[in-house]
Amino acid sequence: MSQSPFVAGLMAGVIAKNPAEPEFHQAVLEAADSFELVLARHAQYRRARIVDRLIEPERVIMFRVPWQDDKGEYQVNRGFRIEMNSAIGPYKGGLRFHPSVNLGILKFLAFEQVLKNSLTTLPMGGGKGGSDFDPKGKSDDEVMRFCQSFMTELCRHIGPDTDVPAGDIGVGGREIGFLFGQYKRIRNEFTGVLTGKGINWGGSLMRPEATGYGSVYFAAEMLKTRNQALEGKTCLVSGSGNVAQYTIQKLLLFGAKPVTVSDSSGYIFDESGITTEKLAFLMDLKNARRGRIKEYADKFKGAVFTPIDPKADHNPLWDHKAQCAFPSATQNEINGKDAANLLRNGVFVVSEGANMPTDLDGVQQFLQAGILYGPGKAANAGGVATSGLEMSQNSVRIAWSWEEVDARLHTIMRSIHRNCYETAEAYGHKGNYVMGANIAGFVKVADAMLDQGLV
Ligand code: NDP
Repeated sequence: MSQSPFVAGLMAGVIAKNPAEPEFHQAVLEAADSFELVLARHAQYRRARIVDRLIEPERVIMFRVPWQDDKGEYQVNRGFRIEMNSAIGPYKGGLRFHPSVNLGILKFLAFEQVLKNSLTTLPMGGGKGGSDFDPKGKSDDEVMRFCQSFMTELCRHIGPDTDVPAGDIGVGGREIGFLFGQYKRIRNEFTGVLTGKGINWGGSLMRPEATGYGSVYFAAEMLKTRNQALEGKTCLVSGSGNVAQYTIQKLLLFGAKPVTVSDSSGYIFDESGITTEKLAFLMDLKNARRGRIKEYADKFKGAVFTPIDPKADHNPLWDHKAQCAFPSATQNEINGKDAANLLRNGVFVVSEGANMPTDLDGVQQFLQAGILYGPGKAANAGGVATSGLEMSQNSVRIAWSWEEVDARLHTIMRSIHRNCYETAEAYGHKGNYVMGANIAGFVKVADAMLDQGLV
């Protein structure tokens, strides 16, 4: 794709200043033409160098995380927190524990988080953090010792009015518990410093469900623009963690038929559909027994397990007949070939539960095909939005009912959808949710930055 002089200039600077961070380059490039459109209409953003300031983190914290394994051996990992932008509220964004974690991946996530949080309608800035620690195969005690060491440093930098981390890949309820325990011990404060907490100690009902539910609500809103509904639609879902599980649960409640799930070892195709009972098995497998996805096919007749082929140029999960796709595993899990396969198989709704799961080639194909394509920063914003609701409940020390949180989440997802849809239309790109999300997210942050001066 040819680049305008603005985009080429911006990207040359980003690449020179942030070498070896391809995911960060990709995330900026995906938003660059949206920013160009806004700058063309608003000279004040150009003068204030808002885009240059937006892609430079306010603060990057990188630290050593030493810990001891069960054999008594010393281990060392690297910890990070990217405090990207606090123009509209305290930094907010998840922690990821995965061996692939590095500075560039967390900067891409933090950059997208700023725009996403702005879309939620709640007062939250953007941040992201994590470690190259791999919780897979570790005992609970090892995970606890790691989390305690990680928080021993992180606690200096976060706080309920400063920076409020949450979970992400590899950081679920267990990890949030250990992190919160150590924060409380060191700071002697019981505050809403993390979200995704247990329900008995400050957590919000529906937070575990929120990202998956939100992504399904977003898909339903997109479908409404074509007078269609999820009921009866066959859906491809990737991942089998937090986001995938609750995406499947909500799809079932909408009468849709999810037929795939995956983990990093391979994927399951269950042509007869993943039912509530099968989902219960999957949740126990992944959340309690921490087993591998192949066991699903061992348990249920007719379900087929296909192992990952690291040499393949595409992911066969995306090569089944369906109408909807919910990528819910990780970044760049849909490449150009996968996107072509999805389109060929009849998929016309893609709602991204994961962050940046589609590479630039895939995004271009979806946009050109004119399908209902909801980018992660809009479609998966329900998770952080409900984290925002958890912060509100913590501030006033009350707990809302399930129905109340669900109603607020649903309202927020509808409002994000409307905002993206109307913004895209106002900028001459009707139906382009990528433009809509980038521009709507940008404008709110940019205006706050203008108001607050050169900081
Ligand atoms: P989990 O750790 O609960 O689950 C992640 C799932 O994706 C697992 O099935 C995992 O398989 C799979 N996966 C992870 N990395 C890879 C990889 N490199 N290749 C293949 N499969 C992989 O994480 P979440 O469900 O919380 O997060 C999933 C996605 O959703 C991420 O992109 C995250 O950033 C995004 N997201 C999450 C939010 C949340 O509230 N949790 C909010 C907004 C976005 P395995 O177990 O084998 O590694």
